[in-house]
Amino acid sequence: MSMNETTYIGPYLACRHGNPSGKKSLNSCPNSSCSNHGRSVYENFCPQCGSKITDVEVAANMEMSLRNEMLDGDRLTDLIMEGDKVDGMHFFGANISFAPPQYKYDEDRHTEFEICPIAIEELMERFSSVFAAEIEKAKRVYGEGNVQVRFGVVRGLS
Ligand SMILES: [Zn+2]
Repeated sequence: MSMNETTYIGPYLACRHGNPSGKKSLNSCPNSSCSNHGRSVYENFCPQCGSKITDVEVAANMEMSLRNEMLDGDRLTDLIMEGDKVDGMHFFGANISFAPPQYKYDEDRHTEFEICPIAIEELMERFSSVFAAEIEKAKRVYGEGNVQVRFGVVRGLS
C-alpha cells in the first residue's frame, strides 16, 4: 500500500475515542473468528456468520475497529491514518462530492478558490446534511459529546 501525503481543506468530522486501555461492551458478534467481532452490529443476527448478536465485552483499544466502522460504505475517508497519534482523535473527511455547485472546482486544473465566511457556513451545513447518517453513527460509536463537525485543514497520510 502506498501512502500519500494529503492536505484536506473543508468540513470534516473530528471524533475523540475514549479510554484506550479499558473494556467496553457493545452489541456485537460473539464469534471471535468473525470479522464483525468487536464491531457494533445493529441487527439481531450477524450478517457475516449468522451468530446471535449479544452484549460482547471487548478491549476498548479499538482504534482500528472504530475507524473501519466509520469507513463502512466508503462515503468518508480517514484523513490521518495514524489518527490516534493526534491526541486520541480520528478525523474523517468527505470521500464523495457533497459541495453545492457554486463550490465545485476541477481538481485536475490549476485553479483559485476563495474561502469566505459564507462558504464555510454553507459547506458545513451541506456536509452535516449529506453525512447526517454518518454523524449519527459516529455519535453512537464514539459517544455523543465526542463528535464534532469542524472546518479546517487536515494534513495527513492516506
Ligand atoms: Zn459474526
